[in-house]
Amino acid sequence: MSFEALGLMPRLLQAVAEQGYSTPTPIQAQAIPAILDGRDVMGGAQTGTGKTAAFALPVLQILNQKGRSKSRCPRCLVLAPTRELAAQVGEFTATYGKNLTLRSTVVFGGVGINPQIDKLKRGVDILVATPGRLLDHVGQGTVSLSDVEILILDEADRMLDMGFIHDIKRVLKLLPNQRQNLLFSATYSDEIKRLADKLLDNPAMIEVARRNTAAEKVSQVVHPVGLKAKRVLLAQLIKDGNWERALVFTRTKHGANRLATYLEKNGIGAAAIHGNKSQTARTRALAEFKAGKVKILVATDIAARGLDIDKLPYVVNFDLPNVAEDYIHRIGRTGRAGCSGNAISLVSADEQKLLRPIERLLGKQIPIEIIDGFEQNQADKDEETFVDFRRSGKKSGGFSRSRSGGASRRSNGPSNRTAHAHR
Ligand code: AMP
Repeated sequence: MSFEALGLMPRLLQAVAEQGYSTPTPIQAQAIPAILDGRDVMGGAQTGTGKTAAFALPVLQILNQKGRSKSRCPRCLVLAPTRELAAQVGEFTATYGKNLTLRSTVVFGGVGINPQIDKLKRGVDILVATPGRLLDHVGQGTVSLSDVEILILDEADRMLDMGFIHDIKRVLKLLPNQRQNLLFSATYSDEIKRLADKLLDNPAMIEVARRNTAAEKVSQVVHPVGLKAKRVLLAQLIKDGNWERALVFTRTKHGANRLATYLEKNGIGAAAIHGNKSQTARTRALAEFKAGKVKILVATDIAARGLDIDKLPYVVNFDLPNVAEDYIHRIGRTGRAGCSGNAISLVSADEQKLLRPIERLLGKQIPIEIIDGFEQNQADKDEETFVDFRRSGKKSGGFSRSRSGGASRRSNGPSNRTAHAHR
């Protein structure tokens, strides 16, 4: 299967070839012809599957065939949950459309509104937006959505998770009834199904990864470790493994800051991104990370949503996420576009309860590997949580799961101390 066979025009094929894409990804192979046919699409695809090109290429072709917008108002609206994803979709759209005369722009919050107003005034064919800032523009009368012919909800599940449903409903009321709708979501909750039922008319149902399936090429491992020893273990893994680049997830913004500072103090270039940082700081940190100026990017789930980082060999769950689906999203950042990836989870005993729903969602157990010197019970001895557990008489302590094959551990010297962790 080639891009030519999908019915794309030469100027788009040229842009695709310049990106080095030789064959369409499965979502592209299925979605591009359906969208070119004018159909609504329900796309079940994670980031990393090539879904942006799957919608951007046919949309560019459709709009190009119709010519530039005379009203200067957008004819295609892409809604995305986060600033980073919106920026990324905007960049890809501009790249794929570089040989066309269509105009695209991106609007999101956290940055000045005036430059966005100037761009909107000049006229735009494709508008990529986060819901809140889009509604600000609508409120100020700086954009009209009455000419939108194609609506795309990207990472719709994330938008719902982030509480954007009311904003989305407000936006839908501002759009013409007659339009093509494309909805992309990595997971199918009942809420997503309800939204899809309302929005989509006889959609082409395209699902490329099995529901909630983690990227197949990602090898996953759990390192049991005491809470306080986590950062030491992380620094050791980075140094021993000569890691060039890793994305590390923490549960809290504060935790992200603290960890980045610790790594920096230990000679490992690190930056943190989270919702409390200004957009300029987030953009700078991401740019430095992508350019290889800092090795480690420490992020919270929201800040990292949709991030597309080329050749990211490691994703680390410094804390396990509270919501099992977030684990899938996190590890989906590695192993992208055909590269292999590693997802490493540093799990303290009090996080074991979070591991079970994740494994249920994955449909398999994640191998456990104990790193010598970081045996959990040993490290947890002075930790408050465990003292409390023990006092209350509840069963707790180290990793209590027994599993076939047992846990492996680093083989640099026998360590009898690890044995008790598996009872
Ligand atoms: P996405 O799922 O849209 O976030 O895209 C993930 C990554 O895959 C991006 O870095 C794209 O540049 C890359 N990509 C998209 N389509 C292809 C393709 N057909 N062949 C190779 N890489 C691709």
